[in-house]
Amino acid sequence: MSRSAHPAGPRHADVLPDPHPLAVPDDVNLLDPAIWPSSARRVNGVLELGGTPVPALADRHGTPALFLDEEDLRTRARAYRAVDGVDVYYAGKAFLCTTLARWIAQEGLGLDVCTGGELAVARAAGFPAARIAVHGNNKSSAELEQAVAAGVGRIVVDSFQEIDRLARTAARAGVRQAVLVRVTVGVEAHTHEFIATAHEDQKFGFSLRDGDAARAVGEVLAAESLQLRGLHSHIGSQIFETSGFEVAAHRLVALAASLRDGLGLEIPELNLGGGLGIAYVHGDDPETPKQILERLLGIVERECAAMRLPAPRIAVEPGRALVGPSAVTVYEVGTVKDVRLDGGAVRRYVSVDGGMSDNIRTALYDADYTCALAGRSSEAPPALSRVVGKHCESGDIVVRDVWLPSDVRPGDLLAVAATGAYCRSMASNYNYVPRPPVVSVRDGQDTVLLRRETDDDLLRLDQGLTR
Ligand SMILES: *Cc1c(COP(=O)(O)O)cnc(C)c1O
Repeated sequence: MSRSAHPAGPRHADVLPDPHPLAVPDDVNLLDPAIWPSSARRVNGVLELGGTPVPALADRHGTPALFLDEEDLRTRARAYRAVDGVDVYYAGKAFLCTTLARWIAQEGLGLDVCTGGELAVARAAGFPAARIAVHGNNKSSAELEQAVAAGVGRIVVDSFQEIDRLARTAARAGVRQAVLVRVTVGVEAHTHEFIATAHEDQKFGFSLRDGDAARAVGEVLAAESLQLRGLHSHIGSQIFETSGFEVAAHRLVALAASLRDGLGLEIPELNLGGGLGIAYVHGDDPETPKQILERLLGIVERECAAMRLPAPRIAVEPGRALVGPSAVTVYEVGTVKDVRLDGGAVRRYVSVDGGMSDNIRTALYDADYTCALAGRSSEAPPALSRVVGKHCESGDIVVRDVWLPSDVRPGDLLAVAATGAYCRSMASNYNYVPRPPVVSVRDGQDTVLLRRETDDDLLRLDQGLTR
């Protein structure tokens, strides 16, 4: 159905930017299985997650709250793990807590951390240190010491100063630390486009063009306390096409070939980073883990064959693609307001009890989300709506444009899909709003992984109180 064919179409056509891909859905109650966790279904109109009706979850845990489908996550972790020849490191910055770290460990994956805090969570979970990789463009001396002392499997070096610092840290600890050299390959990839340049103006890694990457390898080799394991590149995020990875792999393999020719060096491992995309809105169509990993393997094998190099072991670091689709944020609607715009069009604002403090991605990246009425289905005609939060910012938008039933009213529960990655992990206490809980759901059971913050938590750091 075209937008203008809808009864409310002409009005909405003025509100949506033109051209806009957001077609009126045939049925606003449908849950696109590409977007929602595998256990999401409607039973008598009510959304169920992990075998429990969302209204019951909301009663027990309040709103807003994130509900994480454990089986959905584990199934995807297994699918990544099932491809031979590829090591998979979950990028913990997407979302990390001790329970999740344990699941990742149980499924046989590795874990990327990029701060002392993330390392502390991994360690508290008992995550096997040999399967931890440590990232970051400015790891502190203390963070390097903690990583070396923990016995992490990889440290990804990012600057000449850091190579020197890490070499001394490892020497003091009496260990030979395995490292990867992060290479800036000159590929910037995002969703369906990528840009290949000779150079990238960014803070991460060693430039290929300027020969810094080769010099960094030389410095690692010269340090007795460091052991070169391989090369690393990370080209972007929310990527659907593998052509950017192809250019990155081509450049990494060319560097490996020149290191072989110049130094007789063999590079055992190539890490292609993360960035694999997920479906946020209808029409997003990421490939399966198996398809993506086999394609990446094929690319590296081809590039290596062309350079007559033995194919190295490949590693990838999905964050969003592992945890993103598994969680849903449930909010309660507080107000519904129709605002008349210049020209007479009307925009419907649906305000919920969270917002940019639990999901900053829409405000920060203009990210797209979709959402659905969770406590009931509705036969009311769809109305183009904007879901906004409760913060004191007009940019506090959760879902910019979505078709919701026109009878959405205060007290309704609204579920926003695909909020597992970079929502709770980027949450803030802006406006002194307590951060929401994360609750896992599975087989009719629900378990709090992170509890909701309380007003006491918010005041805990405040030294101006006499108690
Ligand atoms: C952020 C990041 C990732 C994970 O990115 P996703 O888009 O969540 O897959 C992996 N590796 C590195 C080095 C990163 O910085």
